[in-house]
Amino acid sequence: MLFLEPFGATDAGKVRANNEDALLVGEGRDETLFAVADGIGGFEAGEVASRIAVDILKELEPEASFEAAIREANRRILAVGRGDERLSGMGTTIVAVRFGGTREEPVAQVAHVGDSRAYLLRSGEMKPLTEDHSLVAELVRSGDLTRDQAAEHPQKNLITRALGADEEVEVDTMVLPVEAGDRLLLCSDGLSDMVPEARIAEILADVPDDPEAPARNLIAAALDAGGSDNVTVVIVDIKQETPREEEPSGDTREMSAVSRSGNQAPTRPPAQRPPRTERQGDARNRVSRPPKAARRKRKRGGFGRFVRGLAAVLIVATALTPAYLWGTSRYFLGLDDGEVVAYQGLPYAPLGVELNEEWRRTGVQASEVKTPYRGPIENHTLYTQAEIEPVLQDLGK
Ligand code: MG
Repeated sequence: MLFLEPFGATDAGKVRANNEDALLVGEGRDETLFAVADGIGGFEAGEVASRIAVDILKELEPEASFEAAIREANRRILAVGRGDERLSGMGTTIVAVRFGGTREEPVAQVAHVGDSRAYLLRSGEMKPLTEDHSLVAELVRSGDLTRDQAAEHPQKNLITRALGADEEVEVDTMVLPVEAGDRLLLCSDGLSDMVPEARIAEILADVPDDPEAPARNLIAAALDAGGSDNVTVVIVDIKQETPREEEPSGDTREMSAVSRSGNQAPTRPPAQRPPRTERQGDARNRVSRPPKAARRKRKRGGFGRFVRGLAAVLIVATALTPAYLWGTSRYFLGLDDGEVVAYQGLPYAPLGVELNEEWRRTGVQASEVKTPYRGPIENHTLYTQAEIEPVLQDLGK
C-alpha cells in the first residue's frame, strides 16, 4: 500500500515586505491535492490572487476536474480584479499535483500555469515535470538562448501565462505513473531563481525518509543565496507501507485505489500524517526592508501572451515591468534585403513574435559595411541609443 507524506513551507524572503506566495498541503476536500501559487501585482494584489487560486483548489472534490478548477480560479481572479481598482491586473502562477489512479497503477496528475515548477526525484535523479511559461523559456526552446544565458537573463521573471491575465487560460497537464520512494517537489521561482538546479537536486535527495528536512533546507538555501523573492516549497513523499491484516488505527490511511467500478474513479489516497505547513519569515521582523519605491521596482513583470504580438506585450508590460523597459531602451543592427537596418527592442521572436520594431533604415548595403561593424550586425549586439548613434554615422565605407 502506498501513502503520502507531505511537508510544505513558505518564507517571505529577505527583501519583499509581503509574502505573495500561497500553498496548499493536502488541507482541501481532496487530501491528495498539493499546490504552490505565486501572486503577481502591485501592493497586496498578488497575495489576493494566489490566495483565491489556492482557496478554489481547496474546494475541489476528489472526482472533479482539475483543469476546470484552475480555469475557475482564473475567472474568479479576473472577476475580483474587475470589481476592485486596487486589485486590477493581479494574477498568479499555479503548480498543483493530485494523486490517484489504481492500486496497481498509481499516478500523479500535474497541472501548471506560469513559472512555478514541479520536479520528480526518483532513484536519486531529479527531473523537471513542468516547462516554464516564461519569455526566457520560450527563447531557450527557440534556440535564441542557452539555459545558462536564461538563468542570468534580465527578463527571466517575465511570464507568458498566468491566472488572471485573460478570459481563457491554457493549463498544461501531465499524468505521471508514481511508485514508492518517489519524491515530488513543487516550488515558486523564489527557489528556482535563487538556487541552481543541481543544488536543488542535492538537497532534495538528502534525508530520504523525511520531507520536512529537505523542505527547510531548500528554503534556507534560497535565503542564503539572497532571498530576493518569496520562496515556497512543498515536498510530497510517496511511501510504501507494509500491509496489515487489520484496519490500521489512528491516522494512517492508505493510498489504496480500488474503484467501485473496478477500473476507474479511484479512491483518493489521503496523506498519512496531518498535512504540515509552515509560514515562516514574517517580513515585519526583517531588518532588510528596502524603501517602498525599491520594493515596487522588484515586482515581477507583466504577463502578456506574447502570441498576441508586441502591442499586447507593451500594454501589459508597461504597467509593471522594468525588464520590458530595459528591452525597449536597447537597439541593434540587422540586415533587411541587404540593407543595414537599426531596430529598437530585443533581437528575439518567441513564438514567432518579434520583440522589436524597425527604428531607422541606414541606406548602407551589407557589402559597404566597415569590417569592425560586421560582427555586431551578425550577432545583433545590443546598444543604447547614445551608443548606436555614432555607429550609424560611421557604418559605411
Ligand atoms: Mg516569485
